Amino acid sequence: MQEGKIIKALSGFYYVKTDDGIFQCRGRGVFRKNKKNPLVGDNVEFIAENRQEGYILDIKERENELVRPPIANVDQAILIFSAKNPDFNTTLLDRFLVLIEANHIRPVIVITKIDLLNERELVNMENFINDYKQLGYEVALASSTKGEGMQQFFPILKNKISVFAGQSGVGKSSLLNALRPDLKLETNAISKHLGRGKHTTRHVELLEIGGGLVADTPGFSSLEFKTIEVEELSFFFPEMKERINDCKFRGCLHLKEPDCAVKEAVKNGAIKDYRYQHYLSFLEEIRQRKPRY
Ligand code: GDP
Ligand code: ZN
Repeated sequence: MQEGKIIKALSGFYYVKTDDGIFQCRGRGVFRKNKKNPLVGDNVEFIAENRQEGYILDIKERENELVRPPIANVDQAILIFSAKNPDFNTTLLDRFLVLIEANHIRPVIVITKIDLLNERELVNMENFINDYKQLGYEVALASSTKGEGMQQFFPILKNKISVFAGQSGVGKSSLLNALRPDLKLETNAISKHLGRGKHTTRHVELLEIGGGLVADTPGFSSLEFKTIEVEELSFFFPEMKERINDCKFRGCLHLKEPDCAVKEAVKNGAIKDYRYQHYLSFLEEIRQRKPRY
Protein backbone atom coordinates (compact mmCIF):
# COMPACT_ATOMS: atom_id res chain seq x y z
CA MET A 1 0.00 0.00 0.00
CA GLN A 2 1.17 3.53 -0.81
CA GLU A 3 0.16 7.00 0.19
CA GLY A 4 -0.27 10.10 -1.89
CA LYS A 5 -2.33 13.17 -2.58
CA ILE A 6 -5.00 13.57 -5.27
CA ILE A 7 -4.00 16.51 -7.45
CA LYS A 8 -6.53 16.05 -10.24
CA ALA A 9 -9.83 14.29 -10.84
CA LEU A 10 -10.96 13.64 -14.38
CA SER A 11 -13.34 11.19 -16.06
CA GLY A 12 -13.47 8.81 -13.13
CA PHE A 13 -9.72 8.80 -12.60
CA TYR A 14 -7.86 10.28 -9.68
CA TYR A 15 -4.31 11.41 -10.22
CA VAL A 16 -2.36 10.66 -7.08
CA LYS A 17 0.94 12.40 -6.51
CA THR A 18 3.62 10.51 -4.61
CA ASP A 19 7.37 10.80 -4.21
CA ASP A 20 7.59 8.16 -6.95
CA GLY A 21 5.55 10.12 -9.44
CA ILE A 22 1.89 10.41 -10.34
CA PHE A 23 -0.41 7.37 -10.40
CA GLN A 24 -3.65 7.27 -12.33
CA CYS A 25 -6.07 5.62 -9.93
CA ARG A 26 -9.62 4.42 -9.88
CA GLY A 27 -11.70 4.42 -6.75
CA ARG A 28 -12.72 1.19 -5.12
CA GLY A 29 -16.19 0.87 -3.65
CA VAL A 30 -14.98 1.47 -0.10
CA PHE A 31 -15.81 5.15 0.12
CA ARG A 32 -19.26 4.67 -1.37
CA LYS A 33 -20.12 2.89 1.81
CA ASN A 34 -19.11 5.93 3.86
CA LYS A 35 -20.78 8.20 1.30
CA LYS A 36 -17.44 9.83 0.79
CA ASN A 37 -16.20 10.73 -2.65
CA PRO A 38 -12.52 11.36 -3.17
CA LEU A 39 -11.75 15.04 -3.64
CA VAL A 40 -8.79 16.81 -5.12
CA GLY A 41 -6.55 17.54 -2.15
CA ASP A 42 -7.38 14.30 -0.37
CA ASN A 43 -4.58 12.25 1.12
CA VAL A 44 -5.24 8.66 0.11
CA GLU A 45 -3.99 5.14 0.52
CA PHE A 46 -3.78 3.20 -2.70
CA ILE A 47 -2.50 0.00 -4.21
CA ALA A 48 -0.18 0.46 -7.14
CA GLU A 49 -0.83 -2.06 -9.92
CA ASN A 50 2.21 -0.93 -11.83
CA ARG A 51 4.36 2.20 -11.84
CA GLN A 52 1.60 4.40 -13.24
CA GLU A 53 -1.72 2.92 -12.24
CA GLY A 54 -3.51 1.88 -9.12
CA TYR A 55 -6.69 1.97 -7.13
CA ILE A 56 -7.58 3.98 -4.08
CA LEU A 57 -8.44 2.07 -0.94
CA ASP A 58 -9.03 4.76 1.61
CA ILE A 59 -9.27 8.50 2.16
CA LYS A 60 -7.61 10.04 5.18
CA GLU A 61 -9.54 12.34 7.42
CA ARG A 62 -9.94 15.83 5.99
CA GLU A 63 -8.89 19.06 7.65
CA ASN A 64 -11.55 20.94 5.72
CA GLU A 65 -13.48 20.86 2.50
CA LEU A 66 -14.28 23.68 0.11
CA VAL A 67 -17.34 23.38 -2.10
CA ARG A 68 -16.25 25.81 -4.80
CA PRO A 69 -13.83 24.73 -6.04
CA PRO A 70 -14.27 21.23 -4.62
CA ILE A 71 -10.99 20.73 -2.78
CA ALA A 72 -10.09 19.09 0.52
CA ASN A 73 -7.39 20.11 2.98
CA VAL A 74 -6.99 23.69 1.84
CA ASP A 75 -4.29 25.33 3.97
CA GLN A 76 -4.74 28.90 2.89
CA ALA A 77 -6.53 31.33 0.64
CA ILE A 78 -4.34 33.78 -1.24
CA LEU A 79 -6.57 36.80 -1.39
CA ILE A 80 -5.61 39.03 -4.29
CA PHE A 81 -6.44 42.70 -4.54
CA SER A 82 -5.03 45.14 -7.04
CA ALA A 83 -3.73 48.46 -5.78
CA LYS A 84 -5.42 50.03 -8.80
CA ASN A 85 -7.42 49.01 -11.82
CA PRO A 86 -9.71 47.79 -10.35
CA ASP A 87 -9.37 50.14 -7.40
CA PHE A 88 -8.57 48.81 -3.98
CA ASN A 89 -11.74 48.33 -1.94
CA THR A 90 -11.45 47.94 1.83
CA THR A 91 -15.05 46.79 2.35
CA LEU A 92 -14.51 44.04 -0.17
CA LEU A 93 -11.26 43.08 1.56
CA ASP A 94 -13.05 42.65 4.88
CA ARG A 95 -15.88 40.77 3.20
CA PHE A 96 -13.45 38.25 1.71
CA LEU A 97 -11.64 37.94 5.02
CA VAL A 98 -14.87 37.12 6.85
CA LEU A 99 -15.83 34.51 4.24
CA ILE A 100 -12.41 32.89 4.40
CA GLU A 101 -12.26 32.95 8.22
CA ALA A 102 -15.74 31.40 8.30
CA ASN A 103 -14.32 28.47 6.32
CA HIS A 104 -11.52 28.10 8.89
CA ILE A 105 -8.92 28.74 6.25
CA ARG A 106 -5.92 30.99 6.76
CA PRO A 107 -6.05 34.08 4.55
CA VAL A 108 -2.95 35.68 3.05
CA ILE A 109 -3.51 39.18 1.68
CA VAL A 110 -1.71 40.07 -1.55
CA ILE A 111 -1.81 43.51 -3.13
CA THR A 112 -0.83 43.36 -6.79
CA LYS A 113 -0.11 46.01 -9.44
CA ILE A 114 1.85 48.19 -7.01
CA ASP A 115 3.77 49.46 -10.04
CA LEU A 116 0.66 51.56 -10.77
CA LEU A 117 1.06 53.54 -7.52
CA ASN A 118 3.10 56.72 -7.16
CA GLU A 119 5.37 57.14 -4.17
CA ARG A 120 2.80 58.82 -1.97
CA GLU A 121 0.14 56.24 -2.81
CA LEU A 122 2.57 53.45 -2.06
CA VAL A 123 3.30 54.91 1.38
CA ASN A 124 -0.45 55.19 2.03
CA MET A 125 -0.93 51.58 0.99
CA GLU A 126 1.89 50.40 3.22
CA ASN A 127 0.39 52.28 6.16
CA PHE A 128 -2.99 50.83 5.48
CA ILE A 129 -1.85 47.23 5.24
CA ASN A 130 0.02 47.65 8.50
CA ASP A 131 -3.38 47.61 10.19
CA TYR A 132 -3.87 44.13 8.79
CA LYS A 133 -0.41 42.95 9.73
CA GLN A 134 -1.20 44.02 13.27
CA LEU A 135 -4.32 41.88 13.17
CA GLY A 136 -2.03 38.94 12.48
CA TYR A 137 -2.59 38.64 8.75
CA GLU A 138 0.26 37.96 6.41
CA VAL A 139 0.39 40.63 3.71
CA ALA A 140 2.51 40.82 0.55
CA LEU A 141 2.84 43.62 -1.99
CA ALA A 142 3.81 42.69 -5.52
CA SER A 143 3.94 43.59 -9.16
CA SER A 144 3.67 40.65 -11.50
CA THR A 145 4.50 42.69 -14.60
CA LYS A 146 7.65 44.12 -13.04
CA GLY A 147 8.44 40.88 -11.23
CA GLU A 148 8.67 42.74 -7.92
CA GLY A 149 8.06 40.91 -4.66
CA MET A 150 7.93 37.47 -6.23
CA GLN A 151 10.40 35.95 -3.77
CA GLN A 152 7.93 36.43 -0.92
CA PHE A 153 5.59 33.84 -2.38
CA PHE A 154 7.89 30.84 -2.27
CA PRO A 155 7.92 30.47 1.53
CA ILE A 156 4.20 31.30 1.59
CA LEU A 157 3.23 28.59 -0.93
CA LYS A 158 5.75 25.93 0.06
CA ASN A 159 4.27 22.59 1.14
CA LYS A 160 0.77 24.00 1.31
CA ILE A 161 -2.46 23.73 -0.66
CA SER A 162 -3.55 27.23 -1.64
CA VAL A 163 -6.63 28.59 -3.30
CA PHE A 164 -6.50 31.97 -4.95
CA ALA A 165 -9.37 34.36 -4.44
CA GLY A 166 -10.20 37.82 -5.70
CA GLN A 167 -12.30 39.67 -8.23
CA SER A 168 -11.72 39.19 -11.89
CA GLY A 169 -9.02 41.41 -13.32
CA VAL A 170 -7.00 41.86 -10.12
CA GLY A 171 -4.11 39.85 -11.53
CA LYS A 172 -4.50 36.29 -10.26
CA SER A 173 -3.43 34.59 -13.50
CA SER A 174 -0.63 37.10 -14.02
CA LEU A 175 0.77 36.33 -10.59
CA LEU A 176 0.65 32.58 -11.18
CA ASN A 177 2.35 33.07 -14.54
CA ALA A 178 5.03 35.21 -12.95
CA LEU A 179 5.68 32.48 -10.40
CA ARG A 180 5.65 29.71 -12.99
CA PRO A 181 6.14 31.12 -16.48
CA ASP A 182 5.70 27.76 -18.23
CA LEU A 183 2.04 27.69 -17.14
CA LYS A 184 1.10 30.37 -19.65
CA LEU A 185 -2.36 30.94 -18.19
CA GLU A 186 -4.45 33.28 -20.27
CA THR A 187 -4.73 36.71 -18.74
CA ASN A 188 -7.28 39.40 -19.38
CA ALA A 189 -9.18 37.08 -21.70
CA ILE A 190 -12.90 36.41 -21.93
CA SER A 191 -12.58 32.70 -21.43
CA LYS A 192 -9.66 31.66 -19.37
CA HIS A 193 -8.46 28.71 -17.41
CA LEU A 194 -8.44 30.51 -14.12
CA GLY A 195 -11.87 31.94 -13.65
CA ARG A 196 -15.42 31.09 -14.35
CA GLY A 197 -14.66 30.14 -17.88
CA LYS A 198 -16.66 28.28 -20.45
CA HIS A 199 -16.36 24.92 -18.76
CA THR A 200 -19.58 23.61 -17.36
CA THR A 201 -18.10 20.50 -15.84
CA ARG A 202 -16.04 21.61 -12.91
CA HIS A 203 -12.66 20.14 -13.36
CA VAL A 204 -10.16 21.15 -10.73
CA GLU A 205 -6.49 20.59 -10.67
CA LEU A 206 -3.75 21.44 -8.22
CA LEU A 207 -0.78 23.03 -9.94
CA GLU A 208 2.73 22.75 -8.54
CA ILE A 209 3.81 26.29 -7.89
CA GLY A 210 6.50 27.60 -5.59
CA GLY A 211 7.03 24.25 -3.89
CA GLY A 212 3.34 23.97 -3.03
CA LEU A 213 0.04 23.15 -4.72
CA VAL A 214 -2.29 25.84 -6.02
CA ALA A 215 -5.84 25.26 -7.24
CA ASP A 216 -6.30 26.28 -10.87
CA THR A 217 -9.79 27.60 -10.08
CA PRO A 218 -10.32 30.56 -7.78
CA GLY A 219 -12.42 30.18 -4.65
CA PHE A 220 -14.84 32.39 -2.76
CA SER A 221 -16.50 33.64 -5.91
CA SER A 222 -19.83 33.92 -4.11
CA LEU A 223 -19.52 36.88 -1.80
CA GLU A 224 -22.73 36.38 0.14
CA PHE A 225 -22.74 35.57 3.84
CA LYS A 226 -25.04 32.62 3.26
CA THR A 227 -24.08 30.40 6.14
CA ILE A 228 -22.97 33.00 8.68
CA GLU A 229 -25.25 33.77 11.63
CA VAL A 230 -25.41 37.19 13.30
CA GLU A 231 -24.10 35.80 16.60
CA GLU A 232 -20.93 34.43 15.03
CA LEU A 233 -19.97 37.31 12.75
CA SER A 234 -17.61 38.92 15.25
CA PHE A 235 -15.67 35.64 15.54
CA PHE A 236 -14.42 36.33 12.03
CA PHE A 237 -12.90 39.68 13.00
CA PRO A 238 -9.79 38.61 14.97
CA GLU A 239 -9.63 41.84 16.98
CA MET A 240 -13.26 41.35 18.05
CA LYS A 241 -12.94 37.63 18.65
CA GLU A 242 -10.20 38.18 21.23
CA ARG A 243 -12.43 40.56 23.21
CA ILE A 244 -15.75 38.75 23.07
CA ASN A 245 -15.25 37.07 26.43
CA ASP A 246 -14.87 40.50 28.04
CA CYS A 247 -18.30 41.62 26.88
CA LYS A 248 -20.80 41.55 29.74
CA PHE A 249 -23.44 39.65 27.81
CA ARG A 250 -23.04 36.31 26.17
CA GLY A 251 -24.03 36.62 22.53
CA CYS A 252 -23.27 40.35 22.63
CA LEU A 253 -23.62 41.77 19.12
CA HIS A 254 -21.59 44.84 20.08
CA LEU A 255 -24.38 47.22 19.15
CA LYS A 256 -26.13 48.92 22.06
CA GLU A 257 -25.39 46.43 24.83
CA PRO A 258 -23.85 47.86 28.01
CA ASP A 259 -20.28 46.95 29.04
CA CYS A 260 -19.31 45.83 25.57
CA ALA A 261 -15.55 45.26 25.28
CA VAL A 262 -15.66 45.62 21.50
CA LYS A 263 -17.35 49.02 21.54
CA GLU A 264 -14.96 50.12 24.27
CA ALA A 265 -12.02 49.13 22.04
CA VAL A 266 -13.51 51.04 19.11
CA LYS A 267 -13.87 54.08 21.34
CA ASN A 268 -10.26 54.02 22.49
CA GLY A 269 -8.93 53.23 19.02
CA ALA A 270 -7.72 49.68 19.73
CA ILE A 271 -10.19 48.52 17.09
CA LYS A 272 -10.19 50.56 13.90
CA ASP A 273 -13.43 52.37 13.31
CA TYR A 274 -13.62 51.35 9.65
CA ARG A 275 -13.41 47.70 10.64
CA TYR A 276 -16.25 48.17 13.12
CA GLN A 277 -18.31 49.99 10.46
CA HIS A 278 -17.81 47.06 8.09
CA TYR A 279 -18.87 44.72 10.88
CA LEU A 280 -22.07 46.74 11.34
CA SER A 281 -22.92 46.73 7.67
CA PHE A 282 -22.26 42.98 7.34
CA LEU A 283 -24.40 42.37 10.42
CA GLU A 284 -27.24 44.34 8.87
CA GLU A 285 -26.86 42.38 5.65
CA ILE A 286 -27.10 39.06 7.50
CA ARG A 287 -30.16 40.30 9.39
CA GLN A 288 -31.85 41.30 6.14
CA ARG A 289 -31.28 37.84 4.79
CA LYS A 290 -33.46 36.34 7.50
CA PRO A 291 -37.18 36.36 6.99
CA ARG A 292 -38.82 38.39 9.77
CA TYR A 293 -41.99 37.01 11.19
P1 GDP B 1 -7.32 37.81 -13.12
O1 GDP B 1 -8.66 38.01 -13.76
O2 GDP B 1 -7.39 38.08 -11.65
O3 GDP B 1 -6.69 36.50 -13.41
O4 GDP B 1 -6.37 38.98 -13.70
P2 GDP B 1 -5.29 38.90 -14.87
O5 GDP B 1 -4.06 38.21 -14.41
O6 GDP B 1 -5.94 38.40 -16.11
O7 GDP B 1 -4.92 40.44 -15.04
C1 GDP B 1 -5.84 41.42 -15.45
C2 GDP B 1 -5.09 42.57 -16.11
O8 GDP B 1 -4.23 43.20 -15.16
C3 GDP B 1 -4.20 42.12 -17.27
O9 GDP B 1 -4.34 43.07 -18.31
C4 GDP B 1 -2.81 42.13 -16.69
O10 GDP B 1 -1.83 42.40 -17.66
C5 GDP B 1 -2.89 43.25 -15.68
N1 GDP B 1 -1.93 43.05 -14.57
C6 GDP B 1 -1.79 41.93 -13.82
N2 GDP B 1 -0.81 42.09 -12.89
C7 GDP B 1 -0.34 43.33 -13.06
C8 GDP B 1 0.69 44.10 -12.39
O11 GDP B 1 1.35 43.66 -11.44
N3 GDP B 1 0.89 45.38 -12.83
C9 GDP B 1 0.16 45.92 -13.86
N4 GDP B 1 0.42 47.18 -14.21
N5 GDP B 1 -0.81 45.22 -14.51
C10 GDP B 1 -1.05 43.96 -14.11
ZN1 ZN C 1 -19.82 43.27 22.85
